[in-house]
Amino acid sequence: TKVSNIRNFSIIAHIDHGKSTLADRILEVTGLVDERQKREQFLDRLDLERERGITIKAQAVRIPYKANDGQEYTLNLIDTPGHVDFSYEVSRSLASCEGALLVVDATQGVEAQTLANVYLALDHDLEVIPVLNKIDLPSAEPDRIRQEIEETIGLDASTALEVSAKTGVGVPAVLEAIVKDLPPPKGDPDAPLRARVFDSWYDSYQGVVVLFRVVDGTVAPGDPIRMMSTKKEFEVTQLGIFSPDAVQVKRLSVGEVGFLTASIKELQDARVGDTITHAKKPADKPLSGFKPVKAMVFCGLYPTEPSEYEALKSALEKLQLNDAAFNFEPETSQALGFGFRAGFLGMLHMEIIQERLEREFEANLITTAPTVVYKVETVQGGTLFIDNPAKLPDPSEIAVFSEPYVRMEIHAPGEYVGNIFKLCEEKRGLQKDVRYLSSNRVIITYELPFAEIVFDFFDRLKSATRGYASLDYEIIDYRPADLVKLDMLINGEPVDALSTIIHRDKAQQQGRAIALKLKKSIPRQLFEVVVQASIGQKIIARERNPPMRKNVTAKCYGGDITRKRKLLEKQKAGKKRMKRMGNVEIPQEAFLAALRTN
Ligand code: GDP
Ligand code: MG
Repeated sequence: TKVSNIRNFSIIAHIDHGKSTLADRILEVTGLVDERQKREQFLDRLDLERERGITIKAQAVRIPYKANDGQEYTLNLIDTPGHVDFSYEVSRSLASCEGALLVVDATQGVEAQTLANVYLALDHDLEVIPVLNKIDLPSAEPDRIRQEIEETIGLDASTALEVSAKTGVGVPAVLEAIVKDLPPPKGDPDAPLRARVFDSWYDSYQGVVVLFRVVDGTVAPGDPIRMMSTKKEFEVTQLGIFSPDAVQVKRLSVGEVGFLTASIKELQDARVGDTITHAKKPADKPLSGFKPVKAMVFCGLYPTEPSEYEALKSALEKLQLNDAAFNFEPETSQALGFGFRAGFLGMLHMEIIQERLEREFEANLITTAPTVVYKVETVQGGTLFIDNPAKLPDPSEIAVFSEPYVRMEIHAPGEYVGNIFKLCEEKRGLQKDVRYLSSNRVIITYELPFAEIVFDFFDRLKSATRGYASLDYEIIDYRPADLVKLDMLINGEPVDALSTIIHRDKAQQQGRAIALKLKKSIPRQLFEVVVQASIGQKIIARERNPPMRKNVTAKCYGGDITRKRKLLEKQKAGKKRMKRMGNVEIPQEAFLAALRTN
């Protein structure tokens, strides 16, 4: 195709506004996916994504399209995920597009992530086409939503398209708008190759597969290429496009999107955001990159049985091959033995990784309470970043103890403002702005400690607003706070894996809550079990499980031997997910008690 007939676009939307459904309809209307191949949410590749209904991996598909002007066009749809945890993936996909379809649910209106995504698109100078979706629903209010888009985003919505991604109504008009309203790519076909990597993953047969967009020049199979950040060189073995299945091609030039393989063994050698150039005729300067991805939430991952350590390690390594945002390193815990400390983008990312580990690798895991990364300036003048409470220096060595803060924007109907204020105050938030767009739409801005929102904020907000609020946040800075380490002791022994870092004002309440949870989750034993919470030497809470009088088998009156055996087996199965702490058996749930105390 001529460059002037290429259109590279993304679909951006708040979650559930219909992005994936619209993508499916586009593939169908253009005839790319026929009845036989048709399955819902074609772009959502992984099973887990399918189940959770979340798109995690950015994907690209080439769609040939004959427009009403009689010309053949090549549309490249670059899919983006819709959750805040993955906004870095949105950004890298948008950098490869000239335009975006902004899908807004016409029954809901502009939500926090609608806005966040529009800002990302405008940051990359994209042309934005507003699309009002779900107009098949009786509760759709396209005119009101149009006005809302103009007021909140400042985008001309008078010509916004009305569609139903579900029924397909209005979808042909979307395709025409892509051709007419989005600009073609710019680039110099005769300049040295510059291609931007926007995704890469590990394939056990092909090695690393790199998804990229050519900005200048041309690439072909057999070409020697160089990754500009690492200077590593490879030879292109396969070059292709997804349309929607992988198809090999002879060359890719300005504006085109495709994949290549080049016997790349390590994902680190094909970093997202890097620029690929020709090794023999290299470009002078790389393309502007992306912000490096940084893990924000950490937790410990331990095998239930020490013998499963190697299996867990190889499972983690495999997962990391396909998820550059996930990292881990070995750590040891006095309580849990050998395991790993793993870093994630956010809680959703963490849950997804844990689920994949359990599902794909059948790993039996003990997960410790997640923590954010704290900053410690020591009295000696050093700076430490603490991602594990057990590694915190003694308080006497700490000069300044700081925690990460986020700026959060919450969108909600006016009637819930009181509830939202209450929740944010409880979470140590500082109110920054309250903006009334209309009587039933308010944008509230708070600055909050990241630690306060990481665990249950989203759920709390949903229940405080009957599901009508949406939120978006970004980490802004570190601020000093009166933080302490809260330790838990079982029969006088501190259990390092149960330590947490917390604001002093909340320590007492939290210590009591965890102690109670632990008491309840630890089965009664033949001896007394005392659970305590402490800050330094000071005990702030204490709970006790009295000893059991008789052992379990005593119930069998010494008679029925099969029943006795069954009972013992049941006990054994129950032990699978226990860890022995000295002589106390602690079940897996106990390690999560620290977060579920509300
Ligand atoms: P995404 O999170 O933006 O990818 O949203 P999805 O495409 O997964 O859609 C979210 C939900 O809205 C799904 O249950 C869809 O079936 C539904 N949906 C999407 N588009 C429409 C539409 O045009 N009309 C109706 N009635 N439902 C829709
Ligand atoms: Mg989706």
